[in-house]
Amino acid sequence: MKNRDGMCDYCGDKIASQVDHISSVSDHVDSVLDGTITLGEAEDLANGSENFADSCGGSTGSCNQEKGKKNVDDFPKKEKESKRISRRRR
Ligand SMILES: [Zn+2]
Repeated sequence: MKNRDGMCDYCGDKIASQVDHISSVSDHVDSVLDGTITLGEAEDLANGSENFADSCGGSTGSCNQEKGKKNVDDFPKKEKESKRISRRRR
């Protein structure tokens, strides 16, 4: 699971201590509703290994706390963001 020497995928500055889902099932709900994918496929997308990011944790100022349930596109890009994150942006 760990990449980048255990640093956070979002900021690259702090040690990652938590695993974040880059997107959630609810991010795919529009595709499910318009019939592009099934609910099962949406769950697979949310639970697939490609969807996990290492994130720094903590109750204030950490990427996991800042991002929360936000879609990755709504989370400000940081200078040292990993490719794993940037290729998920639209
Ligand atoms: Zn971070």
